[in-house]
Amino acid sequence: MNLSSFPYKVIDYKLKMNLNDMADLKPKDIKYCVWHHEGASKDTDSSAKQINDYHRNVKGWAGIGYHGVIRHNGNLELGRPLTKCGVHVGQPGNSQSIGYCITGNFSLVKLQEVRPIQFDAAVRLAVIVSLTYPGIKHVPHRDLHPSECPGKLFPWKEFIREHDILLNKEKNKKSILYCVQVGAFAIRDNALRLRDKFKAGPITFSTGEKMDLTDAFIIEKKPGSFIMPGSFIIEKKPGS
Ligand SMILES: [Zn+2]
Repeated sequence: MNLSSFPYKVIDYKLKMNLNDMADLKPKDIKYCVWHHEGASKDTDSSAKQINDYHRNVKGWAGIGYHGVIRHNGNLELGRPLTKCGVHVGQPGNSQSIGYCITGNFSLVKLQEVRPIQFDAAVRLAVIVSLTYPGIKHVPHRDLHPSECPGKLFPWKEFIREHDILLNKEKNKKSILYCVQVGAFAIRDNALRLRDKFKAGPITFSTGEKMDLTDAFIIEKKPGSFIMPGSFIIEKKPGS
């Protein structure tokens, strides 16, 4: 799953899990993306690491039951690999789905009111999931298995509505976000390196990449495009 457009941090703690004890999950078997809340007695914000410890040490599972955890600040913490069945919704759901946990208790608080950033993060992750697994259906835990999860107050309708709007926008968007004028560099080496990269097609630069683009001159921003913090896509200008 390409998380490069996820606008919050993606954190991989390299959680300790017994991968050999987990059943494989093949993309063709994935029908649902199941959404959970943490659902503790308070509106808590446990890390993927804490949940992994709990699921291993208390529940006796091979590792965290969820494929990821969205924290109060919008960050996504990676959980069980997407290639392995989770433990979050009983059977047959576990063998047909990926599952994400949004930390907090949405039988106690209204997510959109208390943490709009966390709600936004969940919507954006849902869109990335939909782009990765075309045709996947987003469902609340309670639709597949008796439960109140993800909470009586979880704004499910708004969640799906926001997801649909953003997914449509993404589908209509081309991969071109910015064009740069090749050669508009103060340092010749930077221009040459960029030219070499263009030969391989559209490219993505991410935070931490060594290439210095600070002196690239952005000449065009495509209508309707937007720029994600820390990363942007550059493509050779058509016809040049
Ligand atoms: Zn649940």
